[in-house]
Amino acid sequence: MVGPNAVIQLRAALLASGQGACLPGLFGAAGHAAFVTAPPTGPLPEADIGRLFNLVAAHAREPERILTEAGRRTAEYLLAHRIPRAMTALLPRLPARLAAAILTHAMTRHAWTFAGSGRFTAEGGRHLTLSITANPLCLHNRTGCVWHEAVFQRLFQALVSERAEITEIACTGRGAPACRFEVGGV
Ligand SMILES: [Zn+2]
Repeated sequence: MVGPNAVIQLRAALLASGQGACLPGLFGAAGHAAFVTAPPTGPLPEADIGRLFNLVAAHAREPERILTEAGRRTAEYLLAHRIPRAMTALLPRLPARLAAAILTHAMTRHAWTFAGSGRFTAEGGRHLTLSITANPLCLHNRTGCVWHEAVFQRLFQALVSERAEITEIACTGRGAPACRFEVGGV
């Protein structure tokens, strides 16, 4: 199961881009037509969210921008409501390397919220790489996992360094064994 926030923010990003008319088709095909009128309030099966992400990638207008915006909004929600205030206040004041280590440790503990049953790992100090093996929210098309890039980038920019840039360098959707994200600019 994955928390409802991924769907709530994706729905909000579609509505903000004027694509409300697409909601019945997209949510209906994902098996959740009820979310057209009201967003979900509880955890959802990760396979349903993965299906919805890929429907948006295939059928929405400007899918890359929509999924990126949904990821950014998801990170904003986490920063405002899920990450302890002590952490959001302290981390930006620490040396970037230390802040990154604390952030990735916290992300590993809460990985189910953005990776479901997938296995999240963070490797390397100087060249930090984040990986999700068996990523249930992987985008199986040419866009790659732009939603995850946006979630991670916003968290790193808010808590580690404004210059942080996250780039997916390998993707399960393109045949790699895991989705791997390089953390640059830190
Ligand atoms: Zn990927």
